[in-house]
Amino acid sequence: MFVDSHCHLDFPDLREREVEVLAAMAENGVDRALCISVTLEDFPAVLSLAERHAHLWASVGVHPDNAGCEEPDVARLLALADHPKVIAIGETGLDYHWHKDAPEWQRERFRTHIRAARACGKPLVIHTRSAAADTLRLMREENAGEAGGVMHCFTESKEVAEAALDQGFYISFSGIVTFRSATELKEVAAYVPLDRLLIETDSPYLAPVPHRGKTNQPAWVVHVAEEIARLRGEPLARIESATTENFFRLFRHAQA
Ligand SMILES: [Zn+2]
Ligand SMILES: [Zn+2]
Repeated sequence: MFVDSHCHLDFPDLREREVEVLAAMAENGVDRALCISVTLEDFPAVLSLAERHAHLWASVGVHPDNAGCEEPDVARLLALADHPKVIAIGETGLDYHWHKDAPEWQRERFRTHIRAARACGKPLVIHTRSAAADTLRLMREENAGEAGGVMHCFTESKEVAEAALDQGFYISFSGIVTFRSATELKEVAAYVPLDRLLIETDSPYLAPVPHRGKTNQPAWVVHVAEEIARLRGEPLARIESATTENFFRLFRHAQA
């Protein structure tokens, strides 16, 4: 059994095909998935997926790219996270690729999520793009390691991976690791300790080889696992069991 640790099944391309997408998961042995919130406005749709399906869970948080939506405070996040199917806080973090002015509100919002995660004991799902140094700094300043969590859709260097691992974090790889051009990332995927590795699709985005350009879906997380197995010279079954065990160790509020 495989677990997709990060997907957006509530996004338009996927929510209209819910039955088909869940059937494809079952056919491919992808038995579990974590559905990730990006705004509080969308959270009810994400939670609804988790409430209707025993093998789906939800996170609560506001993505660093989203401006002009409801701004969360710690109390609001804690109230929404107080639900048995909500097993993580995020996705949160910093994204200076889409916000090149590196706005202060992103860092404030990130700090709020870290404080909420520490208060409720649910791990963080962290997004970082073109902002690795500030992301790691805020994680340290806010003692994010106390809540733990995952650096999702990892695309940074080995040094950044090492710094996140040092803070107790897990590293999750998406379909990007299957791209031929991702030579440095392939090395990072071979380097991360087996007991800190997670896999994800970030669907509907980032479809892995051999489905590039299509709408991604959780069933295709198997291709991410296959590529990581190839890079590490390990059997697929070993990557499958390790990433599944890691998922349930990290997201300890999820009932297998
Ligand atoms: Zn993300
Ligand atoms: Zn995402």
